[in-house]
Amino acid sequence: MPNSATPTHCPYCALQCGMNLTPQQDGGVAVVERPDFPVNKGALCGKGRTAPAVLSSSVRLTSPLVRSGGELVPATWDEALDRVAEGLARTRTEHGPDACGVFGGGGLTNEKAYSLGKFARIVLGTSQIDYNGRFCMSSAAAAGMKAFGLDRGLPFPLEDIPKTGCVILVGSNPAETMPPSLRYFTELRENGGTLIVIDPRRTRTAEQADLHLAPRPGTDLALALGLLHLVVAEGRVDEEYVQERTVGWEDARAAAMAHWPEYVERITGVSVPQLREAVRLFCEPEHAMVLTARGPEQQSKGTDTVGAWINLCLATGRAGRPLSGYGCLTGQGNGQGGREHGQKADQLPGYRKLDDPAARRHVAEVWGVDPDSLPGPGRSAYELLDALGTDIKSLLLMGSNPVVSAPRAAHIEERIKSLDFLAVCDVVMSETAALADVVLPVTQWAEETGTTTNLEGRVLLRRRAITPPEGVRSDLEVMHELAARLGGERGLEKGFPTDPEEVFEELRRASAGGAADYSGITYRRLAEENGVFWPCPAVPEAADAESSEDCEDASLDATAGADDPAQDEEAAAASVHPGTPRLFLDRFATPDGRARFVPVSHRAIAEEPDDEYPVLLTTGRVVAQYQSGAQTRRVDELNAAAPGPFVELHPRLAARLGAAEGDPVAVVSRRGRAVAPARITTGIRPDTVFMPFHWPGEGRANTLTNPALDPTSRMPEFKACAVRVEAVRS
Ligand code: SF4
Repeated sequence: MPNSATPTHCPYCALQCGMNLTPQQDGGVAVVERPDFPVNKGALCGKGRTAPAVLSSSVRLTSPLVRSGGELVPATWDEALDRVAEGLARTRTEHGPDACGVFGGGGLTNEKAYSLGKFARIVLGTSQIDYNGRFCMSSAAAAGMKAFGLDRGLPFPLEDIPKTGCVILVGSNPAETMPPSLRYFTELRENGGTLIVIDPRRTRTAEQADLHLAPRPGTDLALALGLLHLVVAEGRVDEEYVQERTVGWEDARAAAMAHWPEYVERITGVSVPQLREAVRLFCEPEHAMVLTARGPEQQSKGTDTVGAWINLCLATGRAGRPLSGYGCLTGQGNGQGGREHGQKADQLPGYRKLDDPAARRHVAEVWGVDPDSLPGPGRSAYELLDALGTDIKSLLLMGSNPVVSAPRAAHIEERIKSLDFLAVCDVVMSETAALADVVLPVTQWAEETGTTTNLEGRVLLRRRAITPPEGVRSDLEVMHELAARLGGERGLEKGFPTDPEEVFEELRRASAGGAADYSGITYRRLAEENGVFWPCPAVPEAADAESSEDCEDASLDATAGADDPAQDEEAAAASVHPGTPRLFLDRFATPDGRARFVPVSHRAIAEEPDDEYPVLLTTGRVVAQYQSGAQTRRVDELNAAAPGPFVELHPRLAARLGAAEGDPVAVVSRRGRAVAPARITTGIRPDTVFMPFHWPGEGRANTLTNPALDPTSRMPEFKACAVRVEAVRS
């Protein structure tokens, strides 16, 4: 174990800020700035600074628990693993492999996500696997695949943002979700560029914008079409670019021309002069970008909404050119890598498609199984959770807390309770773990080595910096033990690898030749290079050279490679692929190299307000909590800053209710009722209320949300549903 600072990365969001961890006398670690990591240059938000609190928290799980007499009681690891194996085997025998479900998380390392997909498909033989990243950015992924033939959140590094001329941020609030990233937008404005923020709320990010447009929730598709209409009407289309680098413009143009600015104003509430100003700011500079986040993506038409923003970029020649492009600001820590290596329902490692015969052959060969034995695509995340207790009888859940984070959460909680068997791997007793038949306590970020892929597509090495508590094991060890218990008939009795670097070496082979090709990336490179952007295929000579090197413990040694002679480094650098920070500069990843316009039209949200439910609810995040709050709600400093849920509402709506600041108000939808204190602000539209979703219980925002799914991405509509708001009289 190193006794000096260990360079590593934050466990939370997709910025994956670099940090150093230094050992403390009490056996813990302290976070120290790591200015050499280029993404955050030492800056951290409160979540990152306080992350070690969850390592030593008294609420940490340190013993396996099994349900006995209705209670979860401590057990040995063998007892607990035997119970999990028995539960899954019984379901498989009685109901078939697809009655076993597997649910992963966007916080799992690449190695864990890869192993979980492999475990589901070759040990359990089930098609029923998906992960909570489906709730995060799957609409942007689907739209990117349609338009560009490839999904990587940002096709350029963050460092390009300050050098462009204009950025439109759509439904994104980085001031609260990833504060260190805000400097890129500040520098953009200092350099003379402009920032346009599109958000129904005047967020901390919107306050810094040159132009803030506040559309009605769920109407940003119409907004993008209105902007494209004006681009055409004002003669701002880059005809040469459209001709040379795209196909499908005529249909997309016709769809946009049906969205007159006045019509768009009526739908969105954004005035025509504001639309014209946005077009002027976006089109006048030589370079410009559009970045989306959960706002446009978490809709039942999220794929089309993102597609409309991509169309705007394509029509103006702002994609696949230096300092211009469309990107998605991915949310979860490994949301990017987690969607590349096989824990998605339709996917194999390397961003391969599960229904592609060549992909099945390639991965099956790496796994040593018959391609025909691999199951086909399964259900998406919400559909999988909705099938619990009916088609799916047992569930293995890793790194997720759907009791808080799933839409229509009270219903999903009931579905989870109706399972024959539930096993949960987690570091703390989450609300979902509390319902389990077996809880397995596992290691977390600073206690284990693994790789993540940040929102830029930069693969990073998170290094182990501290000895895990007695009694916990890694998720990889759990899968190893379960594979050994369950996979005998398939020749898997030796289990899965438990060493993260060994798993990564296998992942490299499985991803080779795929869209997300990691085959040229090694732990040694990651230890030396501050990350490598995929795709990074192996160069044959380099592959040979790497395999002959002694890479042992590169993951554990912060100075790995430092003693190598400079000559060797230069030779090695010349013989490896450098990685790909910027995509699409020469061609898009489509068969003919051209981007696709996708014609899209405005349509309403799945649940429009009516007399009974006359207000719109939109949900989101606060700076001091992360996702379902399972970890951050255990940190005193974060709880002091964000102690609980609230309902943000406009003074006019508050006056109608007779509610004052801090008064409890009830928000009621067709799916349930939530109560939280009122927070009154003019920074929200009078027809809309906002709730953050980090808390369980009475103030759980996801009790209310609508699981209407996007037809392509299967993303639920977290961002807009109809509610009524009531004063709560004591
Ligand atoms: Fe950085 Fe995100 Fe961690 Fe905050 S939560 S320190 S923004 S990685």
